Amino acid sequence: MTEKDEIITIDGPSGSGKSTISRELARRLHYTYLDTGAMYRAVGLLALRRNIALDDEKGISSLLSNFDLQLLPGKHDTRVLLDQQDVSEAIRTPEMGMAASRVSALPVVREKLTLLQQQLGSRGRVVAEGRDTGTVVFPQAGYKFYLDASAEERARRRCKQLHEKGQDVNEKEILTQLIRRDQDDSSRTIAPLKAAPDAVIINSSRMTIVEVLDFMLEQLAKK
Ligand code: C5P
Repeated sequence: MTEKDEIITIDGPSGSGKSTISRELARRLHYTYLDTGAMYRAVGLLALRRNIALDDEKGISSLLSNFDLQLLPGKHDTRVLLDQQDVSEAIRTPEMGMAASRVSALPVVREKLTLLQQQLGSRGRVVAEGRDTGTVVFPQAGYKFYLDASAEERARRRCKQLHEKGQDVNEKEILTQLIRRDQDDSSRTIAPLKAAPDAVIINSSRMTIVEVLDFMLEQLAKK
């Protein structure tokens, strides 16, 4: 295996099962799991907490010049420390998903986070998950997957996940937010959500997590 094969990217829209699958794939392969969405969520949270408008590129740029973000492996999700404070729970709300999507369209945010992600991935043996990990962050990755599912199925899964965390959410609202977020993520000019030309596309609408994982492991073994 060469160094470039040691990076696996999994991109796709929200609720496609990327997080669960990336985490489990990383665990099975003894790779590091890199949750790039958590980083955009942390920037969104920081901007909101400091009362900086989510489209204020100058304000957010100055936030990022003094930005202390750490990602640590957690039992379920990645643990995220922002300025030494654990924000792992605070970033996992539908509102923070929307805030992340807004700030992620700003060039200054993408530049900074892409660089951080490349640094985190530089030692190899990484499963990176996000929207542009196969297209922009790690175009040299040896294995790329693009995970999709119908919007209705993704909203159902997201709702179940949030209910399990004790959040009171409405499936219809989640579906509306998810469609809006996908549209914003796919239509932005820099690093839009799309499959890399060399990615294996998987529609998981009718697949279980185990089936997707088995399929991925088969593909990795084949290459
Ligand atoms: O994956 P997650 O739902 O945590 O991502 C939150 C938001 O962060 C996405 O809707 C997207 O706008 C942004 N994001 C991104 N590029 C990535 C990962 C996430 O733009 N690589």
